[in-house]
Amino acid sequence: ATKPNILILGAGYGGMVTATKITKELGHNEANVTLVSKHDYHYQTTWLHEPAAGTMHHDRTRMKIDDVIDINKINFIQDEVVEIHREENKVSLKNSGQVEFDYLVTALGAVPETFGVEGVFDYSFNKWTVNGAREMKDHIEYMFAKYNNEPEPKDELLTFVVAGAGFTGIEFIGELSERVPELCKEYDIPKSKVKMYVIEAAPTALPGFDPELVEYAMNLLENRGVEFKINTPISEVKENGVILKDGEEIKSSTVVWATGVRGNPVIEKSGFENMRGRVKVDPDLRAPGHENIFIIGDCSLMINEETERPFPPTAQIAMQQAETVAANLKALIKEDKLKEFKPDIKGTVASLGGKEAIGVVGNKKLFGTSANFMKKMIDNRYLWILGGVGLTLKKGKNPF
Ligand code: FAD
Ligand code: NAD
Repeated sequence: ATKPNILILGAGYGGMVTATKITKELGHNEANVTLVSKHDYHYQTTWLHEPAAGTMHHDRTRMKIDDVIDINKINFIQDEVVEIHREENKVSLKNSGQVEFDYLVTALGAVPETFGVEGVFDYSFNKWTVNGAREMKDHIEYMFAKYNNEPEPKDELLTFVVAGAGFTGIEFIGELSERVPELCKEYDIPKSKVKMYVIEAAPTALPGFDPELVEYAMNLLENRGVEFKINTPISEVKENGVILKDGEEIKSSTVVWATGVRGNPVIEKSGFENMRGRVKVDPDLRAPGHENIFIIGDCSLMINEETERPFPPTAQIAMQQAETVAANLKALIKEDKLKEFKPDIKGTVASLGGKEAIGVVGNKKLFGTSANFMKKMIDNRYLWILGGVGLTLKKGKNPF
């Protein structure tokens, strides 16, 4: 019999873990496995706030795909996915035509959600990718470099606005506020000239998170010079700043957008029923009505029965889903029973720059150095799952 073709879209958390696990689940002669992704490297989306603020070199967040996966077992195609033809079992790629599949795993990640706010794509930094992070870092440094060369420097050059006090916004401002004193020193700028705002629509920063830890984070960031504007949605982004719903205008040359995500636009383009680009998947992670299409990570949606709300899109869930998908692909090929996906949420830990962090693990609250230790161990754990001790030593973080 001919070998079935397994096609995996996206080399992020979901796609990479599916690729490594499936080659362990199935023998070389049981299936052809192809992975398609935009770049020839995998990057750690969860680390991007660091290179974006310039506290880490972007190369530390990425790794060549063929350094991590066994290209004798997996065929890698570097290309952009344009559309999934669900009924014809084909995928259109931007440069290399169409690829056929018997089984598909879609793990294309997320794009920014604007909630209809105008100007986001024209005037803000919103790409949480390696290229996006590099652009943010260079721009921030340029603002410092430019300031002292202006005959009458405008305050907005050194005013930094972060839109959204979710985990992305908070982790980014944590890094930036940690770096600002160094930038001031490097570019001969008094620290009092720098303004940092975090603007949040909800009545609290980190809505839904433990209030005591939210307060810890806010106090710490305020001590580093960050000003929070809570309960204040941004209604427009302009070339020189933001307009708030209450009419206030904050002039700024740097607006960093972090108001949440939606699923990759390929999902909508391909005609899957979706909510903000995310497909409400069956318990075995297949797209409803499709026996051979799995959707995982930020493109998938699952309701948490306890809260009756969707699980947040996280790397933690994407990686766990990938393990279930690898097992279910094997089950389909061997005509066995498929497994239901059961998330096992271990907790949430967020970095605040330097050696600071906050988190809840199990029912234990962590902050300061113990949270920082935990965060670095979580960051290392994924490297371990993906590439064992070698990759962890090469790319891992020092937890102390
Ligand atoms: P991703 O890991 O984003 O991977 C998607 C891949 O698809 C990428 O390689 C991309 O290049 C590729 N791709 C996209 N479009 C195309 C296309 N058209 N064609 C081909 N390839 C394409 N979650 C946590 O659990 N813990 C954290 O601490 C955490 N921290 C975060 C920090 C930041 C700054 C951000 C932005 C997010 C963080 N998250 C965290 C969320 C987490 O990063 C995502 O939930 C996770 O990356 C989703 O995994 P994924 O496999 O769906 O997509
Ligand atoms: P999010 O949805 O968690 O937070 C976005 C925030 O922006 C919300 O608090 C929202 O109220 C606010 N907002 C929305 N519109 C606004 C507007 N017009 N003006 C001002 N504020 C507005 O999104 P995120 O922070 O990008 O995170 C995305 C996902 O990644 C989440 O699931 C998150 O849990 C995960 N993540 C996890 C970590 C971690 O575990 N350390 C870090 C980063 C991201």
